[in-house]
Amino acid sequence: MEKTIRTIPAHKHIALVAHDNCKPELVRWVKENKDKLQRHFLYATGTTGSILSKETGLAIKSLISGPMGGDQQLGALISEGKIDVLVFFWDPLNAVPHDPDVKALLRIASVWNIPVATNRASAKFLFESNLMEQEVDIEVPDYEAYLAKRT
Ligand code: PGA
Repeated sequence: MEKTIRTIPAHKHIALVAHDNCKPELVRWVKENKDKLQRHFLYATGTTGSILSKETGLAIKSLISGPMGGDQQLGALISEGKIDVLVFFWDPLNAVPHDPDVKALLRIASVWNIPVATNRASAKFLFESNLMEQEVDIEVPDYEAYLAKRT
């Protein structure tokens, strides 16, 4: 598919998600990175968001809980260019009932070429980057061109 450019703004829209066994890790990481995170707009799946709001005091827009459709809501927002970065501490050691949704979320994040951190180390590398504070051009599928060819 042809590509076009989307500019990720300096103040980013960041989605935070953690599976149950990984929630303590995400809470710890968010507390450590609170200063950086509060410069951006934060979103989360339902349970992750309510725990993070309570534990960190950050303003977070909570969607529906992941297994109830929250992962799919996030995927839809990514498709619409409304999420710029995904921090998703998914659990590599335990099965979850909504595995298809997890795969779909990771897949759509790749389709739309947004930066994704899946553990503390990748989140550290991402958030130490100067790009987190700047406008950044990313390549995305040129959906308009695709449609024009199909019709
Ligand atoms: P939760 O969903 O934040 O509602 O627990 C996370 C997930 O996608 O499993």
